[in-house]
Amino acid sequence: MTTVHEPHVTTTASADALSVWPASATEPRPGDLTVGGVPLAEVAEHFGTPVYVLDEAEVRERCRTYRHAFPDAEVLYAAKAFLCRAMIHWVDEEGLGLDVCSAGELELAVTSGFPPERMVLHGNAKTPHDLELALRLGVGRIVIDSPSEIARLAAAVGPEGHQKVMVRVVPGIGAGGHQKIRTGTEDQKFGVSVSDGYAQHAIARILDQPQLELTGLHCHLGSQITSVKPYLTAVRRMVGLMARLHEQHGLVLPELDLGGGHGIAYRPGERRLDLTALACRVHAELTQACAAAGLSVPRLMIEPGRAVVGPAGIALYRVLTVKHTGDHTFVAVDGGMSDNPRPALYGVRYAPRLVGREGSADLARVTVVGRHCEAGDIVAADIDLPADLRPGDLLAVPVAGAYHLSMASGYNLVGRPPVVAVHVGRARLLVRRESLDDIRSRDVGL
Ligand SMILES: *Cc1c(COP(=O)(O)O)cnc(C)c1O
Repeated sequence: MTTVHEPHVTTTASADALSVWPASATEPRPGDLTVGGVPLAEVAEHFGTPVYVLDEAEVRERCRTYRHAFPDAEVLYAAKAFLCRAMIHWVDEEGLGLDVCSAGELELAVTSGFPPERMVLHGNAKTPHDLELALRLGVGRIVIDSPSEIARLAAAVGPEGHQKVMVRVVPGIGAGGHQKIRTGTEDQKFGVSVSDGYAQHAIARILDQPQLELTGLHCHLGSQITSVKPYLTAVRRMVGLMARLHEQHGLVLPELDLGGGHGIAYRPGERRLDLTALACRVHAELTQACAAAGLSVPRLMIEPGRAVVGPAGIALYRVLTVKHTGDHTFVAVDGGMSDNPRPALYGVRYAPRLVGREGSADLARVTVVGRHCEAGDIVAADIDLPADLRPGDLLAVPVAGAYHLSMASGYNLVGRPPVVAVHVGRARLLVRRESLDDIRSRDVGL
């Protein structure tokens, strides 16, 4: 008989429980969780709640992981996941490009010093203002999403002008964590389809516009994809289209953009996309498919958003009430669907934990809810938290860096939370809390 030695665990948080937290997360004393060298309870005390905390080193390290995994590719951070001026600087300093989809994202980046030539503009319905600003600021590439955009863009560029463009192709692949975030299939609003010939038709029209230089094809399959396979299928279909374009038009496209959508774990034990495997297998598939088609290998571009910033963020809430009704215990916090609409939108599940004090060892099954006027305002349903949880306690929700603040709303006029960066033991305010004065100042009529 062999003896199995259990690893010695000194605190209530095992390594596994911290697996979805930033690498800097430590628990020097039970319940006393520290990120970026700063105790989360101190952040809450100093900046108030709800508050988003962002670990700068974690963001930078994730940018570097991409650069190392894809040394020959252009990695563009998808701004819509989360954007502020500090984030723009970090992404720039780490050598990533930027994927934007509005005049607002574009202008914030350019006025923060981000080089416009390293930016790509997306959007299924770009406004005249989006296009005018992109051209004026000199954005690197504009991704054409529909045939009607071609003549509009060509006219805006003018006969003497020049603009690099890509075209967003629908490869006909169903992948992604939820129906609402699948964008590679035929029945959704983005891109032009290969199967019905729209993509080929649109490309022929782009080639007729001398001021538009088509540099490559783009596709984005969806979000929260945890398997490499859909990306390999996308590579084969895109190279197939490139081969047909080469035959028909003698066209050689130097770039191929595979979009983002790389899945992350929101709760311990959940699957995430293996970036090293993705890089190796996409590279192999692309090389092989191009060789078989007699094409030179285009430069790869990728656009991760969530996987760069999601796991670097934490949302901190204060517990306001604990209510027992029938079989349920509801723990209500001072935020909710206005600072995180994702559970209501896609049924996403989070794993909040108590921070700032050691909770009782016995656990109770509770549902953590927000403060908003809807029954669907749920932060986390049916999770186990210390049974002695009470008003005044702090709850921390890991993996809150992506699609939280960027999707936050003005619901119930509670004001959007601030963003605080933590780094080597220091906490600094990046984005201040939205105040009633902010809300009042926009309200100019009577
Ligand atoms: C949203 C989006 C991304 C990023 O998606 P993630 O799931 O955050 O990686 C990349 N490219 C395009 C075109 C997008 O719309």
